[in-house]
Amino acid sequence: MPPRSPEKVYAAKVARALTKEYPDVACALEFQTPVQLLVATILSAQCTDKQVNLVTRTLFSRYPTAADFAAADLRDLENAIKSTGYFRNKAKNIQACCQKLEELYEGEVPQNLDDLVELPGVGRKTANVVLGTAFGIPSGVVVDTHVARLTHRLGLTRHTDPAKIERDLMAVLPQKEWINFAHRLIHHGRRVCGARKPMCEVCSLNKFCPRIGIEN
Ligand code: SF4
Repeated sequence: MPPRSPEKVYAAKVARALTKEYPDVACALEFQTPVQLLVATILSAQCTDKQVNLVTRTLFSRYPTAADFAAADLRDLENAIKSTGYFRNKAKNIQACCQKLEELYEGEVPQNLDDLVELPGVGRKTANVVLGTAFGIPSGVVVDTHVARLTHRLGLTRHTDPAKIERDLMAVLPQKEWINFAHRLIHHGRRVCGARKPMCEVCSLNKFCPRIGIEN
């Protein structure tokens, strides 16, 4: 086997430290079915997972399946998700997406990236969340605001564009790490490496993190 590049060795070190810190990771969004995870992920844009969970507890008992969302009254749906923000757009996308699921996939979520990103309101990030979390398929690395911030600070990428960050991460991490690496970075971003005040002094990565862009 050829020797690993320094970038891969470093990425493995970050992944190891995160695994030690957060051995059991899971997606913070609550769901019972892949369709529900897809809807919850669409709702999570510009909204906290906590608020999404609060909304979906009622939402999913009212609209449990793609068929229910597809047939919903749009105004009722908008009202039900209002507190997640951008509710008109989200309601329109959820309904259009579920209508396509009904039309093309018998109300189920397709299990590949190409089909998923063709659905209304579904981009690469949402598709990666659903494939990784609902089906255990490592289609890519989820890059949300936490992953973008932390990978920059940790020197795993120089890019700010999510698609380019994802490409950098996929190049240095083994595919089996893709799903949980993102979950762990998101946890770490919420708990330790916050946007405004990273707690570097208590961070388990502080021995090797270059802390790019952080003063002091
Ligand atoms: S050392 Fe600081 S910048 Fe680096 S991951 Fe930890 S909290 Fe974030």
